[in-house]
Amino acid sequence: MSSQKIFLFDFDGVIVDGMYEYWHSSLLACEKYLNSPYISFDQKIYKRVPNAFKEIRPWVKYGWEMVLIVHEIIKTENPINNFNKDDFINDYHQNCQKVLKDNSWIAEDLQKILDKSRNYQIDKDFISWVNLHNPFFEVIDFMKELRNREIQTGIITTKGEIFAEKILKQLNIFPEFIFGYESGTKVKIAEKLTKTYEILGFIEDRKKTLIDIKQNSETSHIPCFLADWGYLKKPDRYNLCNEIKLLKLHDLEKLVAI
Ligand SMILES: [Mg+2]
Repeated sequence: MSSQKIFLFDFDGVIVDGMYEYWHSSLLACEKYLNSPYISFDQKIYKRVPNAFKEIRPWVKYGWEMVLIVHEIIKTENPINNFNKDDFINDYHQNCQKVLKDNSWIAEDLQKILDKSRNYQIDKDFISWVNLHNPFFEVIDFMKELRNREIQTGIITTKGEIFAEKILKQLNIFPEFIFGYESGTKVKIAEKLTKTYEILGFIEDRKKTLIDIKQNSETSHIPCFLADWGYLKKPDRYNLCNEIKLLKLHDLEKLVAI
């Protein structure tokens, strides 16, 4: 039995560089919806993404963490800055949990205000919001080439499904499906897909996710590619465990030959 072939993609850091959008939308979420007494706003902070935010971004798994990080960067007392960012990074998960606890926040609520901030911008000026993202055109071309070869494409992202869909539509990309954070873990989604599809590859910029795919017996056969152009932590490129290949943008076209 020959099953339908499909190629899977992460979204953020793989199809688009959304660094400016993450900063902008998380900042707007803090300004409009967070009601924190520890922050004050100067519109100038919207203009430039601070280095500390860019450096912490590779540790982020879910959108709500970005709202929390932005809060910590812009707070008036003891903010995270370029000099102390490594202290936060070195115990990233624990530090996020501590900030949640100290402020009596719930992760889901932060995710909701981030989604609300995105919806607000989309309603107000959709094109301006889309333009905060920079697509990787090599990946867009690769997706089109797959389509020419009758290979389907699927997106598995920790972003809200609707936001990924709106951006892709604007880029003229219509994948067979998009799974957002609402659909569960990436490994579980991939596991379900293996039952109906022959998965030719998965391109993702979060190494831990690829390791999880490789360690799950149902998904370990999926060829995994770590996107060199994405939000990688410095050591990610080295000591890549067996079977996870570092993929460069200019090598995408070689993959079409599979
Ligand atoms: Mg990513």
